Amino acid sequence: MKNVNLHIAKFGGTSVADLEAMQKCAKIVANDPATRLVVVSASAGVTNHLVTLSSSLLTHSQIEEVLQQISNIQLHILHALGEPAELAEKLDSLMLAMKEQAFHEELLHRDDLKDALLSFGERMSSLLFTEVLRLNGVNAENFDVRKVLRTDSVFTEAAPQLEQIEQLAKQFLLPEMAQKVIVTQGFIGADEQGRTTTLGRGGSDFTAALLAEALNADVCQIWTDVVGVYTTDPRITSAAKPLPELSFEEAAEMANFGAKVLHPATMEPALRKNIRVFVGSSKEPEKGGTWIVRDCEQEPPYRAITRRKQQVMVTVKTPKMMHAQGFLQQVFTIIAAHNLSVDLVTTSEIAVSFTLDNPANSVAEKLNRETLEELKLFCDVVIERDYDLVTVVGNNMHSAAGVSSKIFSSVRDYNLRMICYGANPHNMSFLVHQDDSTEIVKELHRCLFES
Ligand code: ASP
Ligand code: MG
Repeated sequence: MKNVNLHIAKFGGTSVADLEAMQKCAKIVANDPATRLVVVSASAGVTNHLVTLSSSLLTHSQIEEVLQQISNIQLHILHALGEPAELAEKLDSLMLAMKEQAFHEELLHRDDLKDALLSFGERMSSLLFTEVLRLNGVNAENFDVRKVLRTDSVFTEAAPQLEQIEQLAKQFLLPEMAQKVIVTQGFIGADEQGRTTTLGRGGSDFTAALLAEALNADVCQIWTDVVGVYTTDPRITSAAKPLPELSFEEAAEMANFGAKVLHPATMEPALRKNIRVFVGSSKEPEKGGTWIVRDCEQEPPYRAITRRKQQVMVTVKTPKMMHAQGFLQQVFTIIAAHNLSVDLVTTSEIAVSFTLDNPANSVAEKLNRETLEELKLFCDVVIERDYDLVTVVGNNMHSAAGVSSKIFSSVRDYNLRMICYGANPHNMSFLVHQDDSTEIVKELHRCLFES
């Protein structure tokens, strides 16, 4: 049963970057009595610093320096709050524990230690934000999300265990929420042995959606620094416009294909439980935002354009094309065994080409390297880099007349390397050279949204 009186509010890194930003968030919470649970990201910049500590070989003094930068961000907020003694003490002990973790000898070689270190960002920001809420007259309490957010043990990219999360949230979190507004951490969780895990970068949105699912919330608010989801990244073209509404499917496609506003997994819990998701700016809440819902008022053929950078195009060929069928199966078995998702695929009689998301230094990049080595054992592999994936997201793109011709005529001057309709009617993608992608997105935007 849906709890119509329950809203969950998630605040991103820039929304909790300093006291001024936190005050705006506190007003948003205080103004909505249905908000009983607040999920926060680490203060802007903190997770990046923690990633630096956990993934680069640094000297003792360099480590001290990075720790100092993190502390400065948090102490700045503490000072602005007038350094209440109890809070100062709690923050101090967190910073001490963080320091110890940062100097752990095996940090660079063990993902469990990395996750334990990454968790400090959200633990510190949630502590500070609880105090800010109290100063705004909200009866707030900090809660360690690791008590309820159970995951598997795949450190740095842990998968949530839905049944346990629901049971634990009902047992430990819900009773607390009856008395107080609970402030908890996004991004982090714990495995069955109680070891700290993380959900992958940007995972706080996912946390909010998972808790909304577990608690049957009516609304999950994602407060960030933009007034909703745009027709395309406003940094690509200033003509981009905020969207008043989006369907779950469209939002999921956008996140998967590179829109930065939402973590790609966020829509899964929302879809399962039909939870309405709101995306808005904590700096300008009065401007409204985007509602992501199951049934939209309109289902236009074109809703948005996304771009995902750093793609590689892989072409595999085998000399023995007589066994093409078995060959394809072998190729995709290897890809599946590495848990990689392939976005675009084209096959010809002698070859199959596909794209892999390949952001530098990511888990995906590491897996891609291993996958390619395995493929090279039994076929010729050609790897081409420097590509971006451009996707048009919308509705009925397979069937509506003129949809693809409109798209293609607007980009006819460019060389498109691969073109694919998605497995569902909500997207159409193509691979383009990275030097062309900004112009292509601008041109498409002009043609689909500005005329
Ligand atoms: N703090 C984490 C990150 O920066 C999670 C999040 O902000 O969503 O990736
Ligand atoms: Mg984020």
